[in-house]
Amino acid sequence: MPGAKQGKPSDKAPRSRGVKPAAPRPGAPQASARVSNTTPGSSLADRARDIARILIAHYPDARCMLDHKNPFQLLVATILAAQCTDERVNTVTPALFARFPTPGSMASAGIEELEGLIRSTGFYHNKAKSIKGAAEALTRRFPKHFPDRMEDLLSLPGVGRKTANVILGVCFATPAIIVDTHVRRVVQRLGLVTDDDPDRIETALARLVPEGTRTAFSHAVTFHGRACCAARKPDHDACPVRALCDSRDT
Ligand code: SF4
Repeated sequence: MPGAKQGKPSDKAPRSRGVKPAAPRPGAPQASARVSNTTPGSSLADRARDIARILIAHYPDARCMLDHKNPFQLLVATILAAQCTDERVNTVTPALFARFPTPGSMASAGIEELEGLIRSTGFYHNKAKSIKGAAEALTRRFPKHFPDRMEDLLSLPGVGRKTANVILGVCFATPAIIVDTHVRRVVQRLGLVTDDDPDRIETALARLVPEGTRTAFSHAVTFHGRACCAARKPDHDACPVRALCDSRDT
């Protein structure tokens, strides 16, 4: 948004609208079910596994909604998605990537031209610095291959754990817990975590969610947060995991 107040955008996962959940599947708890979410003998990990299984089945099309053709483009798009919708980012990136298709070309970009191309995503001063800085670091330190390790990704300007997990989970098939604003809200409501810090939420979820389903779980929870468990008015009646949720009657 032109003229938007500048500040440090948060490192958050992509957002988008128009999420369409799948039709209810056999075996999923009914929306109106009122059974206990703390079945005797079951653990939090059991509940997390059940929630992951149900949500992944309920949102079979859940995925990263940021348009990209390679890890570099996804890195840039994810940085631009901070405090912005995926749809908006997807309207900006075609021209950006046509003008600066590689880390080397983006590293050489004039900051004002970069700002002009990404202005409508908001926070464009800081975002331009971040994507140029990341491109410079990639060109200088990773000239032959895109980094595929958490510690290397975290060393890039503007890249936090959420962005790094997006890259690892989407581009490198590395199990990744991606804690965006939707995931944080939904897992708190479900009662899977009590913490509010994204890094600690990631650690807690990694203990609960089986490694092989972590990335799919992250996407499914994000879709659920958009489609059903909205920030202002969660639709408990339509929720496929209501029976397992600590907040189902609030
Ligand atoms: S029951 Fe309500 S609060 Fe719990 S996950 Fe479903 S929509 Fe969200």
